[in-house]
Amino acid sequence: MFVGHYAAALAGKAIAPRAPLWTYIGAAQLLDIGWSSLVMAGVEKVRFDPALPGSPLILDHMPWTHSLPAAIVWSLAGLVLARWLLKLPWGTALVVGLVVFSHWATDWLVHRPDLEMWPGGAKVGLALWNFPGAEKTLEMALIALGGSAWLWKRGKYGRTAWPAMLFLGFLAALQIIGEFSAPTGDAFAFGRLGLSVYLLVTAVAWLVDRGQHRDEA
Ligand SMILES: [Zn+2]
Repeated sequence: MFVGHYAAALAGKAIAPRAPLWTYIGAAQLLDIGWSSLVMAGVEKVRFDPALPGSPLILDHMPWTHSLPAAIVWSLAGLVLARWLLKLPWGTALVVGLVVFSHWATDWLVHRPDLEMWPGGAKVGLALWNFPGAEKTLEMALIALGGSAWLWKRGKYGRTAWPAMLFLGFLAALQIIGEFSAPTGDAFAFGRLGLSVYLLVTAVAWLVDRGQHRDEA
């Protein structure tokens, strides 16, 4: 799951537009921002097997970002940061926290069982990666749904559609580039690439609705 995670961000923005778009975009990938940083630090582990269907990733060890308790802690941290740092209303901060958690829920759909229910505990995942066609269709359907909700809400506030369409096109382009680029097998380089892409998408989201969210309720 890559750009599919952003569907929850766009839906969150449609439900609670007071938070800037970048907040939701960062929130949707917060677990992977943490994960790619910890992979670079050597704390969490990733290996690659190009023969695997859907995704070459073997994720043996990621207790700090992708176990269920860790995902809950990261989600609460997202809620608290949104409330206290960004001074968002409680309801909006709660949506930000839910968008952080949506990452784990959508990873659960596609990952082969590598998500721990508790550190060292049973591992879960519905393994939709093993059916790449279905997995890609799901990701695109999620983006179409989240994107439609966001466009509809923007329309209600009289926003022009083109910056949002450009952003959706940007996500689609990233998905296509991702399809054609195989990891080199170097975990550090993979973590660095992931972190750069997540931060780039967050920065582009900031550009897309710069200064536009404050008057929306
Ligand atoms: Zn993830």
